[in-house]
Amino acid sequence: MPSLTVVEHPLVQHKLTLMRDRNTSTSKFRHLLHEISLLLAYEATRDLQLAEIEIDTPLERARFPVLTGKKLCLVSILRAGTGLLDGMLELVPSARVGHIGLYREPGSLGVVEYYLKLPDDVSQRQVILVDPMLATGNSAVAAITRLKEMGVGSIKFVCLVAAPEGVAKLHQVFPEIAIIAAALDRCLDKHGYILPGFGDAGDRLFGTK
Ligand code: URA
Repeated sequence: MPSLTVVEHPLVQHKLTLMRDRNTSTSKFRHLLHEISLLLAYEATRDLQLAEIEIDTPLERARFPVLTGKKLCLVSILRAGTGLLDGMLELVPSARVGHIGLYREPGSLGVVEYYLKLPDDVSQRQVILVDPMLATGNSAVAAITRLKEMGVGSIKFVCLVAAPEGVAKLHQVFPEIAIIAAALDRCLDKHGYILPGFGDAGDRLFGTK
């Protein structure tokens, strides 16, 4: 599938398997999500622009690369996206953070926006949109639509587990958006959950069930 990168690094795959296990505790799940988010951030930021500057090492003056270009904004789809934020911020501490609150209507699986807070200069930034699950793709499409309305030109979508249905939907509506995932699972069940997946990401993360 175009625009989808599955991060097959053994550490990512091992940690994801532990997260999938229903017997993994809430605290362990949260810790694993934090660790995986660092590894996914590494992948999501691999094409950040660099420019050379001149500095003095203890031995000589020389030119070396530093980050340049557009600044980053991490945008979390509430509530489960929060679990990916802290790890990513460890790697890019100067990134700004935005939140989009969306919930799925249980019957239609349609999306309702209930919260939006983005940095004033979000349109000048490269956005990494995060949500652990790309299921129907409806939340991702709604969030990206909102970001584009705010003038954002550069967006990547980072998740842990993607369903083929969600990837197809996102690709159909926004073919230019790169998706980075730790796994592409089999399909959705009739409630819109990913199979085999790891259940409700928010509930697993916050211990609400
Ligand atoms: N959201 C979740 O939290 N889990 C799924 O499997 C699908 C959507």
